[in-house]
Amino acid sequence: MYYSGDKRKIAIIGCGSVGMSFAFALLNSGSVNELVLIDKDRKKIVGEAMDLNHGLPFASDNMTIYAGEYSDCIDADIAVICAGAAQAPGETRIDLLKKNTGLVIEITNNIVDSGFSGIIVVATNPVDIMTRTAAEVSGFPYHRVFGTGTALDTSRLRFLLGRYFCIDPRNVHAYVIGEHGDSEFVPWSQAYIATKRITEMCTRSDGRYFLEDLRLLEHDVSTAAYKMIEAKSNTCYGIAMTLSRIAKAILNDENSVLTLSVMLEGEYGEEDVYVGIPCVLNRCGVQSKIRLELTPQEHRKFKTSCDFLKESFLAVDGIGSHR
Ligand code: NAD
Repeated sequence: MYYSGDKRKIAIIGCGSVGMSFAFALLNSGSVNELVLIDKDRKKIVGEAMDLNHGLPFASDNMTIYAGEYSDCIDADIAVICAGAAQAPGETRIDLLKKNTGLVIEITNNIVDSGFSGIIVVATNPVDIMTRTAAEVSGFPYHRVFGTGTALDTSRLRFLLGRYFCIDPRNVHAYVIGEHGDSEFVPWSQAYIATKRITEMCTRSDGRYFLEDLRLLEHDVSTAAYKMIEAKSNTCYGIAMTLSRIAKAILNDENSVLTLSVMLEGEYGEEDVYVGIPCVLNRCGVQSKIRLELTPQEHRKFKTSCDFLKESFLAVDGIGSHR
């Protein structure tokens, strides 16, 4: 059992744009009381820890923040992997496969060797394949190793739908599922605002809302990262808030629904694939996986996404031999 009483400790491995934006979000959230920063660039994290500590007098809660080593993972509740190469302009997430696989294997081995017995959350891209890599290397049960999956894409979708329908995004219940990448999609048959099906809101709106606009919004979601990378070389705040939300759901034992990258074991007729679906998240990790009632066409899209991820994972070289 890895529950550690009142202490709420997170280890961030990889303190670049994503890792440090997440750290800053945690400083503001008050949801943890110990934060350890780990990165191959020791000098940088010493400076980052100093900078965060100087914000503590204005934070809502006290926190211990320091630049650490892998040995500091031993009593962490959650280890979040944010290390690795990010997309360059024009690169897909899958292009990062070769660059990031070795690094995720090395980091996972270091986390496990520390004696860590908590939950591993992976943000490094391509996140579905990197999460499966971390799961295989760690040997941890699948519910304790998961990725951010399509949680960020779902957040982007809810923001855009909220703006389109002029509704608080927190009252939008719609998901992006599948690969966190080009084959992701929105199962519109399962998309609601409060209790109203979104597609019906369009067809019954007397020309106010259009189904075609939904397709455009879906396209905007799946191309958002490319646009931001072109404009500012990275994306960091959306994923930071996503990670902060995930951490809070775990530490507060919330049983919240988030679209995480999890191992399928027969759900949706799929197995041996880490992919984004809605899940219930609590102190133990992924408590359960939600089965959406997909239409046959949506099911085909989901299968295409899973097939792509399975093939991509097979391209990862010799994971089994690394532990
Ligand atoms: P970055 O280049 O700013 O930071 C990467 C950090 O990783 C650097 O500090 C580097 O020193 C560190 N690092 C590299 N190798 C390491 C190792 N072996 N051990 C420890 N630390 C190591 O990149 P970024 O913009 O922060 O992106 C990080 C990752 O997050 C990328 O793979 C990116 O694609 C991914 N990402 C994922 C999502 C998502 O939704 N899952 C969103 C945005 C970015």
